[in-house]
Parts: sequence; structure tokens; C-alpha cells
Amino acid sequence: MPIYLPAISRRRFLATTLTAAAGALCAPSLLAARRKTDADTWAFLSDIHISADPKKVARNTNMTDNLKAVRKEILSWPTRPSGLLVNGDLAFNSGESVDYAAVTKLFDPIRKDQIPVWLGIGNHDNRERFWDSVKSAKKTQTGLADRQVMMISNKHANFFVLDSLIETLKTPGLVGEEQREWLKKTLDANADKPAIIIFHHNPVESGMAANLNDEKEMFEILRPRKQVKAWFFGHTHFWNTQQDESGIHLVNLPCVAYPFKPEAPSGWVHSTLKPEGMRLELRCVDKTHKQQGDVKDLKWRV
Ligand SMILES: [Zn+2]
Repeated sequence: MPIYLPAISRRRFLATTLTAAAGALCAPSLLAARRKTDADTWAFLSDIHISADPKKVARNTNMTDNLKAVRKEILSWPTRPSGLLVNGDLAFNSGESVDYAAVTKLFDPIRKDQIPVWLGIGNHDNRERFWDSVKSAKKTQTGLADRQVMMISNKHANFFVLDSLIETLKTPGLVGEEQREWLKKTLDANADKPAIIIFHHNPVESGMAANLNDEKEMFEILRPRKQVKAWFFGHTHFWNTQQDESGIHLVNLPCVAYPFKPEAPSGWVHSTLKPEGMRLELRCVDKTHKQQGDVKDLKWRV
């Protein structure tokens, strides 16, 4: 039952802001009315690790505060991204229902600004509790019934969001035969556009050792299918891009929560799709971080 959080209708949003006594709620609505959606742009987040307790701190980081800082920047960006995707580890540690209620609430202002929110899951999530807890979600019809698998079509690329969770709190990931078969079929049926593969676990060394049990089988599927241009992952809480021997871009999204290496940034990635590639801009939570504004211009393999 793959799900996502659709944008909340503007009529409902305006009704909320008109009845709200607090002036603070009106400001984003004026901004939302003014700025345009850029259909080629996306906000990519990973490893948000949200706890039901907004005061929860781990590794000297308040995860809720970090997500709020990222949310504020996305809501004040000059153009509205066409979607926001979180690449797993939504919940703090063990995928509790109350954590998912907090996650949903934290994304409400984004959805009220007409940005749909797509959620992937990681090893700190619990698939069933996630599906049961997110009441305002919509089911998508593009994936497998018992996994959080989705295909998202854009003008310049298709996103294939997979589910590499084996079991909550078990660190390594696995795509598995059923999803790999689905991926092969769906990639072949949509070979006319660049394909970007997105899921939680890292298939290669990137800040930490590769942590996907079927990375060999996955590369065998992806390398010969030339429409596959990039593979996005998270899990390592590290920002990095590299290319495999066939030219597929391997993009390690940074964490929004706490980095494992003290020098690594927390933040999100503003991305712009183009016919021939993709521009990625790192936006750090700490604006004084030396990697703030780091831009990677990815050129697609042919
Ligand atoms: Zn994580």
C-alpha cells in the first residue's frame, strides 16, 4: 500500500488562515500566493529521525528543530519546488506510531503550500506502523502492494522510489527479488525518459561501507539500462556524489538530523532537472558550514 501526502487544497488552507487569530499564519499564505511552482525542481531530504518528543536531542542535535529550519528555507525559496521527497529514516529510532504523527504534522505547512510530500522508508522505520499512522495519506497505484514503492513522473525524468527496509533496526538493506522484478519491468516500460533510482541504503562506500545486500544484482539491472542516470540514497548521514564505472551518478543525500561524522553537514538538497542532467545544491542547516551552497552539476551518461 504505497502512500504519499498530497498537497492540501488551497481553499482549505485559506479557510484555515482566515479563521486563525495569529498573524504569523497569514504570512506564508501571502508568500504562497505570490511565488510560482517550478515544475523542474524538487526538495530532497533524508534521515530526518523525528521523535514524537519535539525536545528530543541526539548527538547534540534537536531533530525537530533541524527539520523546521529546512522547512522554513523551502517555504521561503523564490520558487516552489514541485515536490518534496524524504529518503527514509523518518522516525527517530524504532518507527513508533507517535513519531509518524509528528512527521505528518511537521510537513503540513509544506502541503498547505501546494507541495506534495513523498516518503520513503529506512531501517529506523516500521512499514506497517507508518502506513497505519499516516491518516491523511493517499494510496498510489504505481508500486507493489506490500512495499513502499512508487514511480513519480516528471517532465525530464522518472523517479523510481524503492523500499530497502528488511526489518526495523536491522542496519543493512535489501531490495529483494520481487521489487527487482518490478523495477526491471517498470524501467523497460518507461525507457523514453531518464530514470533516477531512489531508496534508503547505500550501494557503495560513501562515508561508510556499502550496506545493501543485493547491490550486485541491482547494478546488473541498472548498468545496461542506459535510461538509468542516477541512484540516490541516504542512510550514511553524509553528503557525497560519485559515479560508478558505467557513468551512473551515485548521490548520497545528507541527513537532516545528526551527522555521524562531526564535520559532515546536516541539510537538504535543492535539485533542478534538465533534459541532459541535474543540478544539485546543498543547503546546510548551519549556514556557516563550509559546504553550504555546494553545487554539483550532473551530466547524464548516454
Ligand atoms: Zn538515518
